[in-house]
Amino acid sequence: MRTAINILKHYCQKKIIIFLLSFLLPLSAQSATIKNMRIGQGAEGFRIVFDADAKFTYKAFLLSEPRRLVVDAYNCTIATNVANRKDKTSLITGVRVGAPEIGLKRIALDLKTPVIIKKAFMLAPQSNFGWRFVMDVVAVTPREFDSHIGSRYAFDSHDGTAKTTESNKKTVQTLSRSKKIIVLDPGHGGKDPGAIGYSGIYEKTITLAMAKELKAMLDKEGKYTVYLTRTTDIFIPLRDRVKIARKYNADLFMSIHADSAANRNAKGLSVYTLSETASDKEAEALAERENKADIIGGLNLLEHSKEVSDILINLAQRETMNRSSEFAGFMVQEMRKSVKLVDNTHRFAGFAVLKAPDVPSVLLEMGYLSNRTEEYQLKQPSYRKKLATSTSKAIKQYFDNMRHASVF
Ligand SMILES: [Zn+2]
Repeated sequence: MRTAINILKHYCQKKIIIFLLSFLLPLSAQSATIKNMRIGQGAEGFRIVFDADAKFTYKAFLLSEPRRLVVDAYNCTIATNVANRKDKTSLITGVRVGAPEIGLKRIALDLKTPVIIKKAFMLAPQSNFGWRFVMDVVAVTPREFDSHIGSRYAFDSHDGTAKTTESNKKTVQTLSRSKKIIVLDPGHGGKDPGAIGYSGIYEKTITLAMAKELKAMLDKEGKYTVYLTRTTDIFIPLRDRVKIARKYNADLFMSIHADSAANRNAKGLSVYTLSETASDKEAEALAERENKADIIGGLNLLEHSKEVSDILINLAQRETMNRSSEFAGFMVQEMRKSVKLVDNTHRFAGFAVLKAPDVPSVLLEMGYLSNRTEEYQLKQPSYRKKLATSTSKAIKQYFDNMRHASVF
């Protein structure tokens, strides 16, 4: 009993000391945590937002060689997902975080394009958002960038207004008009035929035809740069397909497939996005079938890289998942107008091919090759053209919507 009282006494004393200390510590030592970073592209340029749990003191400026945008944040903790961010936007190539002195964290955004800061300010919590540190930047010529380097042109906590008013409108316009990169992935190929149709057609043949036709259609739009993961009948492991999307810095990745089922009556189109838990048993079984390609290839990459893929999923930013879902939504909306869909058309499953953490990705199952009617339809270029037209509309809506979306 006495020991218990002693412990209690000791604990109380400790508490009192901590309580007193909290008054003695200077205000500046209070710490904010920068939890997240978001980058949005608008007609005027880019908006960079840091989400934080409290207001913090900052200084934002440009440095050269290599060109970078630097944010000095005082008495802040930087969450690892900000520091480890491998961003693939058209603005930055990476993020580095350092601590040049005690109480100072320096976040350096390596710039892909020369920009200048137009505005930098702190926003108080509002609706679902906490504190936000916002920077609006616009693309400029390398020469203009060079004339804005250093802390002389810094924006700091005491100054939220623009120090420079000149903007190179022409450069900005060119930038916002820049082409979106789309990677289309015709499922299967080579020694992996994929599903085998009612009359014996291979899935790999239909998917390649569809991808080529869709690319031709998107190319005509003149707004996209479209790549295919394969243009011939070759085998590519699933992981490599993801790598290709990342290598091209894709804004959107779409894997194209056609399903097959023991029940020959099964039919309809569906769109999948990544989820660790499948939306239903059927979706899970499908993911298992599609993921088998790597095992067929004799590499069994799925098994080997289980840990790696788990880490990748964990790293997958909510943003990417949301964007994938957004695009899937547009796909369903457009497809509904022209073809038969399965119930709950947008489904979730653990497809290996959708696991790029930074590229919004969907998997399209165009229909069932095991169904006599759908196999016949999918063999027709005119039917595939219908699918391609709907897909192209969905892609346009997705990017239009993104451009208008506020990043607050
Ligand atoms: Zn497939």
